[in-house]
Amino acid sequence: MYLPGVGPQKADVLRKELDIVSWEDMIYYFPYKYIDRSKIFKIREINGNMPYIQLKGKIRNYETLGEGSARRLIADFYDDTGNIELVWFRNIKRIQNIYKTNTEYILFGKPTMFGYKINIAHPELDTENKFFQGEVGVQGQYNTTEKMKDAFLHSRAVQRIIVTIFEQIKAPLPETLNIETIRKANVIHRDEAIRNIHFPQSQDLLRKAQYRLKFEELFYLQLNILRVTKYRKQRLGGLYFSKIGKYFNDFYHNNLPFELTGAQKRVVREIRHDVNNGRQMNRLLQGDVGSGKTLVALLSMLIALDNGCQAALMAPTEILAIQHYETLQKLLTGLDVEFALLTGSTKKKIREKLLPDVREGKIKILIGTHALIEDSVAFNNLGLVVIDEQHRFGVAQRARLWKKNAIPPHILVMTATPIPRTLAMTVYGDLDVSIIDELPPGRKPVKTIHVYSAKRTNLYDSVRKQLQQGRQVYIVYPLIEESETMDLKNLTEGFKITQEIFPEYKVCMIHGKMKPAEKDAEMQKFISGDTQIMVATTVIEVGVNVPNASVMIIENAERFGLSQLHQLRGRVGRGADQSFCILLTNYELSENTRKRISIMTETNDGFLIAEEDLKLRGPGDIDGTQQSGVAFNLKIANLSHDGQILSLARDLAQQILEDDPLLQSSQNMVLNQQLNKLNQNKQVGWFMIS
Ligand code: ADP
Ligand code: MG
Repeated sequence: MYLPGVGPQKADVLRKELDIVSWEDMIYYFPYKYIDRSKIFKIREINGNMPYIQLKGKIRNYETLGEGSARRLIADFYDDTGNIELVWFRNIKRIQNIYKTNTEYILFGKPTMFGYKINIAHPELDTENKFFQGEVGVQGQYNTTEKMKDAFLHSRAVQRIIVTIFEQIKAPLPETLNIETIRKANVIHRDEAIRNIHFPQSQDLLRKAQYRLKFEELFYLQLNILRVTKYRKQRLGGLYFSKIGKYFNDFYHNNLPFELTGAQKRVVREIRHDVNNGRQMNRLLQGDVGSGKTLVALLSMLIALDNGCQAALMAPTEILAIQHYETLQKLLTGLDVEFALLTGSTKKKIREKLLPDVREGKIKILIGTHALIEDSVAFNNLGLVVIDEQHRFGVAQRARLWKKNAIPPHILVMTATPIPRTLAMTVYGDLDVSIIDELPPGRKPVKTIHVYSAKRTNLYDSVRKQLQQGRQVYIVYPLIEESETMDLKNLTEGFKITQEIFPEYKVCMIHGKMKPAEKDAEMQKFISGDTQIMVATTVIEVGVNVPNASVMIIENAERFGLSQLHQLRGRVGRGADQSFCILLTNYELSENTRKRISIMTETNDGFLIAEEDLKLRGPGDIDGTQQSGVAFNLKIANLSHDGQILSLARDLAQQILEDDPLLQSSQNMVLNQQLNKLNQNKQVGWFMIS
């Protein structure tokens, strides 16, 4: 059955563009903004910073200007306070026929500053008569894509479809929350909320409708994740690591290369407590780049060993796995701990010898990539898995590890990507969080400097000075998929130019199109110091430690997101020397870009940056959430603004589950049903584990 007023063609566009296949989907397609259509401005009052506004006036005359793509139609529009230009770039003929001169129109559009003048491009014009027939007051605007517009599904058409739907369904929409929750959260009913979100009867009801729908969305998100967590905690016991023994003590007293920072000590204590209370640990360790997470990982693994267990350390890439292996070689020198490396490229012969040793428990610590969690890798008694630099490792993936042992191993996920509190609550609601908020002593914060590309000559002199002191340099180019070939050309050109500017130094290059082995080889040259300058796209490994690299130059910094810039900056400042991060941009920058650049030059605080990033970009864009399939497509709630509603939703969900963990009571029936319904839907289903 097609939606009322929607033929097969439009239905097809709605499905392809918005994934809307039913009237229910349709009424959950909410306006993205509202316009007060009761207010009419005077031309004298308007300026270029205003949002969409309305004017009332007449067109005096038309004029066609420019040639080719610059061809445009200009109308002189006036009221009793002044005049303004209207501009059209398309449908030039038709517009002149439809909109008559000297006829009163209500104009709707967005004023923009163009040079010293204000104009309005592609305004909507209505005669007063038509306008006052019902389209006054607060009016919702719906997002539409280009393809939708081609099929004449613009904002108003979407609105009309929704009108038709409401005309057809006379009965109130069923409630999805129980009375208790409605009362405690102090929200309006669903029927009233949905109707008012589309056709607000007043500003007040619009606010209440938004509040109710945001609450509902976040409430179910929390109810879902908390239910999973509760279930897991109840069902899955954990290994007891009660002892601190020889492995830990020998290392701590003989091999520890430096005093632990206060934060490292605190986190180790938190972990110790966590692994000795009979429940499986699921902990997220957040600590900025260079904060010393590896050492915490090692200490935790040694505790596992002291309690007769094995441990595994998993890294996202081969390079990182090798680096961890080498770090452990240094740290564990002289101690009697068997450990080994297993990656996708471990030779078959070695692998065949290694796997039985792991299975029999001879190898105590296994370091590697995803190869570790393949089914062929069996352990004797795996007690702890540390997952490095992979906050994308979601619930479902972690669940696979639980099967690696009779009692599921403790899990420690480490990440240098700070996750804002609200986001962590939503995506990692089932993880306990530890934070290393202190860098080892002696580190100098990276100095970040903004330089316009046109003024880069001086920059090269300073860079040369660093190179002369024996330091190494990264130069990063953006790589954005849409224009990949172009970007690659930029990168290769950048490589050549760099060679020309610094003929006395060796330059290497890596990018995403290279084979992994090739990439690793180039990376290795830089790590070992064979090359002094690395030209790269953002593929430079997360977590790669080259303490000697002290300069990071980011070309076209305007094309990077805030978190991404911060991640890149983290590649330098890992040694004792003063490091620099140079952000190169064009002169012309949007306001948003200026903000990003100034945040970068002002702070090194990863959490602050993550919060700002969330505000500037919205959570859907946060690095990782999308690639990981964690995409919880929030329809109306906004994690950066609705933190309070989220907390309330979480508290209420928690209370409900405390009394009725399986949601079986008659009054929680409706919650159970709705949860199951949402779980059938792919978006939330991610959280459930078989
Ligand atoms: P990350 O948290 O980014 O993984 P690493 O574990 O790689 O950081 O540590 C970064 C550097 O800091 C390493 O060279 C490590 O040896 C050093 N380091 C770690 N802890 C301390 C400490 N307490 N005091 C001094 N240096 C430390
Ligand atoms: Mg690390």
